[in-house]
Amino acid sequence: MTTRVYDAIIIGAGSVGLPTAFFMAQAGLKPLVIDQFASPGQGSNKAAIGGIRATHSAPSKIRLCLESLEVFSTWKETHGDDIEWYQGGYSFVAYGEREERVLKDLLKIQQAYGLDIRWLDGDDLLEVIPDLQPEHLVGGTYSPGDGSASPLLTAHAFYTRARERGGEFHFRERVSGIIRRRGKVVGVRTDKGGYATETVINAAGPWARAVAQMSGLDVPVMPDSHEAGITEPVARFVEPMIVDIRPTEGSKNYYFYQHGTGALVFCITPDPPIVGTDRRETSSFLPMIAPRMVGLMPKLANIRVRRTWRGLYPMTPDGFPIVGWSRELAGYIYAVGMCGQGYMLGPGIGSLLSRMVQQDLTLEDEETLEELSPYREFGGEEKLK
Ligand SMILES: Cc1cc2nc3c(=O)[nH]c(=O)nc-3n(C[C@H](O)[C@H](O)[C@H](O)COP(=O)(O)OP(=O)(O)OC[C@H]3O[C@@H](n4cnc5c(N)ncnc54)[C@H](O)[C@@H]3O)c2cc1C
Repeated sequence: MTTRVYDAIIIGAGSVGLPTAFFMAQAGLKPLVIDQFASPGQGSNKAAIGGIRATHSAPSKIRLCLESLEVFSTWKETHGDDIEWYQGGYSFVAYGEREERVLKDLLKIQQAYGLDIRWLDGDDLLEVIPDLQPEHLVGGTYSPGDGSASPLLTAHAFYTRARERGGEFHFRERVSGIIRRRGKVVGVRTDKGGYATETVINAAGPWARAVAQMSGLDVPVMPDSHEAGITEPVARFVEPMIVDIRPTEGSKNYYFYQHGTGALVFCITPDPPIVGTDRRETSSFLPMIAPRMVGLMPKLANIRVRRTWRGLYPMTPDGFPIVGWSRELAGYIYAVGMCGQGYMLGPGIGSLLSRMVQQDLTLEDEETLEELSPYREFGGEEKLK
């Protein structure tokens, strides 16, 4: 074991581990991040299509994502790196009564939290997104403050700025165990050696359960796979991220937006879920999503798809992340189960974790942690996971 003692060891240089390292290093702490892959953000992070919104329905996620939005939207002016932040907004569209009801119910909660989101009837929504299929369009929500950015550029930016501030990173290194003494964390074992610390953060994404089990713990994170794709670039014609929550045979919701280069980036939630950690893309994805997207926006029929990929959502039973200290092993923190929103939650959660380690929590942080507690009932269900 090396003699250096780290303030915390973060397992996973992903959507959560990287901002966590940055905020800790910024606060003057000395974190070590260990990842099995060759460079930052190569797990689920790089599969994300980059959507960022604060318009959720639970206070914890709203708070965390408001903080994330602030970080994403000011990153370039604060740190100089272009992470491709684009404030195009989000729109959840409704073509039937069911979607209208679900979205309007959520809207009441979202507006009660002061979020900038409103309902637009069909004609008004067509002014924002002129190429939507107008037939049967009832309307949709529109939240202009939301947006998108590049997950890989963001990963690289957090990594670079964390290193500048003294954060340490080890790639191509696999964590194989937690070293404990009298119920407390004292270090981390890997395939290359051992490191001393009193605080370990499990930010292992889809592999979080296996990492918990290494130390005799357990956490209900079940990975399932989602596919995504990107088209050739065309002149800009769509501003917001468009989300269609109508279920059809074989899939639930899908969402897409137009990237700064002009390419459309899209992904879909298969139904039933494809559980497991297989990251090889399938040939059933494009035939499934293409007719849905063309049905929603007939103009898309002429755009060619360039590439598809598959990645993992680290799912929890209720669709909410799991963040908090372990009661069984002192010094062990869970920051896992980000479901389909780990990229947008990352900076907010990273900043919160840094405050946890410094024992500098606000009252609001305490409320957030209560909602995301590893020891909650897991009885409810997130409406738009
Ligand atoms: C198709 C698709 C689209 C998505 N779109 C969005 C979106 O628009 N917006 C959004 O917010 N989210 C989106 N997501 C979800 C998002 O990608 C995830 O929620 C997020 O990346 C999870 O972050 P994480 O840090 O928990 O996991 P990861 O980013 O996977 O990081 C975990 C890291 O832990 C490392 N690790 C695990 N075990 C070990 C070990 N034993 N030793 C060393 N290292 C280890 C892994 O190598 C990995 O790098 C999307 C996901 C998919 C698949």
